[in-house]
Amino acid sequence: MQRRKFIKTAAVGSLAVGAGVIKPVLAANKAEFKWKMVTAWPKNFPGLGTNANLLAQMITEMSGGRLTVKVYGANELVPAFEVFDAVSRGTAQMGHSGAYYWKGKAAAAQFFSSIPFGLNAQEMNAWLYYGGGLELWRELYKPFGLIPAATGNTGVQMGGWFNREIKTMADLKGLKMRMPGLGGEALRRAGGTTVAIPGGELFTALQSGTIDATEWVGPYNDLAFGFYKVTKFYYYPGWHEPGSTLEAMINAKAFNALPKDLQKIVLVACKAANLDMLSEYTARNNQALDTLVNKHKVKLLPLPTEVLKNLRQLSEEVVLELTAKDPMAKKIYTSVNQFRTQVSKWSAVSEQAFFNARSH
Ligand code: CA
Repeated sequence: MQRRKFIKTAAVGSLAVGAGVIKPVLAANKAEFKWKMVTAWPKNFPGLGTNANLLAQMITEMSGGRLTVKVYGANELVPAFEVFDAVSRGTAQMGHSGAYYWKGKAAAAQFFSSIPFGLNAQEMNAWLYYGGGLELWRELYKPFGLIPAATGNTGVQMGGWFNREIKTMADLKGLKMRMPGLGGEALRRAGGTTVAIPGGELFTALQSGTIDATEWVGPYNDLAFGFYKVTKFYYYPGWHEPGSTLEAMINAKAFNALPKDLQKIVLVACKAANLDMLSEYTARNNQALDTLVNKHKVKLLPLPTEVLKNLRQLSEEVVLELTAKDPMAKKIYTSVNQFRTQVSKWSAVSEQAFFNARSH
């Protein structure tokens, strides 16, 4: 008892400075700025929704409660696909989503999510932070009164779940698949049909035969949706999304109204959340893959080299046509493509060579 009393006294004593005592800041009472964060995900959705929660929590805590951020799931304040407009007009001060949803606003936005056969997570972060990517992203969003930031990365995704084996390009003909974005366009050129179905409806669509195949994210999220109950053919790699970046968007007026220290906290929190998501997905994907293969007897199969080669050519066509129509898309793609060429040479003798060496 005496010892406990001593510790308690000592602890209180350490807070005493001069004549006064520093009192803990009560977050709820000290908020100078109250922000709303709208998201494109169901509230608390594993990995994506939880990253939004983490980001909001970090900003609130790091600011000592001077800037509190409240998270809204899709449809709570605005629907998923209205996040961009809501933050642009200031209904919310922040948004959490994926840039490829906004191709209707700016075609080049999708380059900041992922490009088929493009950069992986590590390379994407390198381009954004040290290769001029983030500056271009800011330039693209500036006319909308938005400041973008990378706030997460899924890492390399999976090729998807198929109700049949894929051996040649002929097997893609007539295939009905859920695959969004540039990869979806490449698949259409291979003779497939793509459909846009929200994540929550994918299981039923695959089960009922409305679709023959679907991609979603990777083992961690795919296991949760239970696709293994419908089909056992699980293909890799996710050629269409080799390292998808998640985005935080900030209303520029709201951001500029913050003192410098709070601005820094917002941006550094985004960077920390970016690291957190990639780490979480890498850790949970490998656990989930083990469960899928060993417990649920999923057949893990590589997409044939010839199929990947063809899809790569088709993807290139899709991107080049897009850049031919849109000067900003051309400017951004030129930057990311130059970066890919350069970094590929380094990746070949570093990551790729090491992975090969480790697997021998
Ligand atoms: Ca995906």
